[in-house]
Amino acid sequence: MMEKTLVIIKPDAVSKNLIGEIISRFERNGLRVAALKKIKMTKDEAKGFYIVHKERPFYESLTDFMSEGPIVVMVLEGENAIQKVRKIMGATNPAQAEEGTIRRDFAENIERNAVHGSDSAQSAAYEIPYFFSTLEIL
Ligand code: GDP
Repeated sequence: MMEKTLVIIKPDAVSKNLIGEIISRFERNGLRVAALKKIKMTKDEAKGFYIVHKERPFYESLTDFMSEGPIVVMVLEGENAIQKVRKIMGATNPAQAEEGTIRRDFAENIERNAVHGSDSAQSAAYEIPYFFSTLEIL
């Protein structure tokens, strides 16, 4: 099934100059960039993006981190894009991420873990329009 998913290169990875390396890994795996931009979220924008986690103990820390510096947000398209991206990213905790995954190679810890990818079609349907209008997705 052709799908679209929302991917974020998080502030830790952007600050380490890893934008190109991370996008290349997705492209090499057959995903196509349908939309792309570099932005910096405010604290409130980060809280809105991660609203599903508002009761979690790491919500404050996570949203501080996600608003500390620039991020790259993109829509990737491909066959089973949602699951494919999750596999290329690796587990949330880099200590548990498989070899060759982005998080295994570049994450600092469970929070500063380099990338975000929508975890379901329902999440993608919230996350893509959070950053992109229809006219920006090609
Ligand atoms: P993901 O779908 O793999 O990104 O993981 P989750 O949806 O569970 O969590 C969202 C984000 O919150 C993660 O990517 C991490 O940046 C952060 N996070 C998750 N679990 C923890 C945790 O136990 N502690 C802290 N500090 N951050 C976490």
